Amino acid sequence: MRTGGVEANFGCKTKDFELLLPSANTNELFMAQEDIFKKLVSHCKEYGYVFPSSEIYDGLSAVYDYGQYGVELKNNIKKYWWDSMVLLHENVVGIDSAIFMHPTIWKASGHVDAFNDPLIDNKDSKKRYRADVLIEEHLAKFEEKINKEVEKAREKFGAAFDEKKFRETNQRVIANQTKLDEINARYTKAMNATDLNELRQIIIDNEIVCPVSGTRNWTDVRQFNLMFATEMGSTSEGASKVYLRPETAQGIFVNFLNVQKTGRMKIPFGIAQIGKAFRNEIVARQFIFRMREFEQMEMQYFIQPGTEMEWFRYWKDIRMKWFRALGFGDENYRFHDHTKLAHYANAATDIEYKFPFGFKEVEGIHSRTDFDLKQHQEYSGKKMQYFDPEKGESYIPYVIETSIGVDRMFLHVISAAYLEEELKKEDGSTDTRVVLRLPSFLAPVKLAVMPLVKKDGLPEIAEKIVDDLKFDFNCQYDDKDSIGRRYRRQDAIGTPYCITIDHQTIEDNTITIRYRDSMKQERVSTEMLRNTIKDLVSVKEALKKI
Ligand code: ATP
Repeated sequence: MRTGGVEANFGCKTKDFELLLPSANTNELFMAQEDIFKKLVSHCKEYGYVFPSSEIYDGLSAVYDYGQYGVELKNNIKKYWWDSMVLLHENVVGIDSAIFMHPTIWKASGHVDAFNDPLIDNKDSKKRYRADVLIEEHLAKFEEKINKEVEKAREKFGAAFDEKKFRETNQRVIANQTKLDEINARYTKAMNATDLNELRQIIIDNEIVCPVSGTRNWTDVRQFNLMFATEMGSTSEGASKVYLRPETAQGIFVNFLNVQKTGRMKIPFGIAQIGKAFRNEIVARQFIFRMREFEQMEMQYFIQPGTEMEWFRYWKDIRMKWFRALGFGDENYRFHDHTKLAHYANAATDIEYKFPFGFKEVEGIHSRTDFDLKQHQEYSGKKMQYFDPEKGESYIPYVIETSIGVDRMFLHVISAAYLEEELKKEDGSTDTRVVLRLPSFLAPVKLAVMPLVKKDGLPEIAEKIVDDLKFDFNCQYDDKDSIGRRYRRQDAIGTPYCITIDHQTIEDNTITIRYRDSMKQERVSTEMLRNTIKDLVSVKEALKKI
């Protein structure tokens, strides 16, 4: 993309381009969402965010590597989560437990017997699916139809629209809702009873077809355990089977008393952890949305039995605020309350984000009762009780869990930030730019420092500024190509601020700062730079909103 000619008028306070369509809806107007997603995937590769794993050997399915910018974004996401948990809550502390754990832990947690997905194959396409996902996607279609009717009516009736009444009286909505409720009730019952034949029958009865072959030629539904197993110790010693952990939560449960006692923690208190988890997913697709090796950020909050609904609501609220503080639009998030509860939960909800491929789970919040600690007490023979000084009695605490995938959060952030903007140039012609509108505190590079030319002492001034500021935040020195191309490169990486050093800098110690989102430029004194940028890229403002 050639833009240098126009952007070269930096240094003055004029804007270089006018955004024709500055809203976040620009994408919807220009491209189908699927296209955006494909472009996003190639953008991630082209700009050093995400690479397919083992690429020179043709890759490894559902495993990815993070590049030079990807790792920075990932670290910033983790810091945002960690600070919101550990820094903001005096009673939440962190741990880092090992990936390998005693194999009995997975027996106690229920993973050996029940961490299964129901899989089904289409005999014509030979494609494998999760039976529950096929049914849920079918249910989502009814929901979409209902929502479309509601939106149409909202537009028609304007301010006078009564959504509740409309849903109760509109015949098409009623018919779709009845069908949805019928299938959902059958599905929930089948899942709760692990009735695999019934799951297949629901697929047949509802004429759900394979998206690839378009046929209904389905095999039986079978259970598939998602844990990866390996061996620990040499064969001569008698190796034992161990698992790669499928979630980080169990590392918290088995350390519950260690932390409680050594930290002298009083209930309620939480333990947070970030770490790798592994699942042998049947259907791994949509890029880093569903991976076989991924990272989780989990927090278990230990509470008095009987107070779980209050704390469940508390954490739902806090976690939603955490997402909204990113500024990607409140309407792009929603709760999805579970009707089918996992064996350990008495309440559960997902926080879903509107990805280019629809609303999907990013985080799960579960009221896990005392299931896990009770199980570990039984299987280990060690007491997992807490002595409550206020009540004067011991009990096994209840637990509220918040669990979010780092990689899925990464995909959320980068897909929300990716934008193709159409711009009007000063000569009246149009151009497009690809920009990652990342919140400044998440951006991999905070500031690009650019000498206008590679002579007259300008590079030396730029290098000195980088040397000076690099202790405060991530700076990048950039002197290749025209200034316009450099701006475009930084836009594509998501760098929120660029500064240019020109001949005037030598005279009056001022530089031009250019803002990524508005593309506005202004001259500021070099002295102001550190404090101005430091404030702008700080995570503090986002944390204050939680
Ligand atoms: P899903 O229904 O999408 O399989 P889940 O309900 O099994 O997810 P949890 O066990 O609740 O997920 O895990 C908590 C979070 O971990 C999820 O909300 C998601 O962000 C992340 N996660 C789970 N599985 C994967 C995966 N295979 N790849 C990437 N992230 C994952």
